[in-house]
Amino acid sequence: MLVLFDIDGTLLRTAGAGIDAMLACARELFPARTFSFDNVSISGRLDRLIWRDLQTNAQVEPSTDHDAVFRARYGHHLEQAFLAGAQSMPLRGAQALVDELHKRSHGGVGLLTGNYEHTGRLKVAKAGFSLDPFQFNAWADDGWHRRDLPPIAIARYCVMTGRAMSPAQTVIIGDTPLDIDCAHFNGCRAIAVATGAHSSDELQSHTPDLLVKDLDDWRSVAQWISDQTQSETLA
Ligand SMILES: [Mg+2]
Repeated sequence: MLVLFDIDGTLLRTAGAGIDAMLACARELFPARTFSFDNVSISGRLDRLIWRDLQTNAQVEPSTDHDAVFRARYGHHLEQAFLAGAQSMPLRGAQALVDELHKRSHGGVGLLTGNYEHTGRLKVAKAGFSLDPFQFNAWADDGWHRRDLPPIAIARYCVMTGRAMSPAQTVIIGDTPLDIDCAHFNGCRAIAVATGAHSSDELQSHTPDLLVKDLDDWRSVAQWISDQTQSETLA
């Protein structure tokens, strides 16, 4: 099984450090404009699309040049914020689940996230996770919509290991309806975890294959993933 973790609300929480750094970056690039997250949905969406929405709000004409500069400077601002004491806090059970899955000889672990690669790695490292287990990743750099990302992580697995991996053997763990959507759209399984902005009831209405309130009982989640592996092998 290939198991792909969302970052914000699933592995960790940053208490707004990412949003603050994005705003600081936008104001640095366009000091005469007024940027805000009013009417900008962030839940489960990719950072490059959120940046497009921020520009639209501030009446800035989007361009690929702006995108490249924003990505680089946003990384710088987040790095500075973490150095200055902003927090990235691991969520309970997440580290233990990653470690358990990483120990298994078959399959792999990766990140599937709306973060750019640079800022995603910063958040994960700041929360105390080793980046070593996360070998097969897909980032906001890789597409515009979350649905774009699972095939990229799967392709990276196949290229890097020389082994086949089907969408049905891939599990996506996330805290938003868009995590569930990107899994099912691509034929993957979805584990929803209610440690982000969405309640268990709301997530359940999007019919994840497994719903948990948090990852504290990581052994049960790891066992469920093992059971899926066996049912795939038998199928
Ligand atoms: Mg999330």
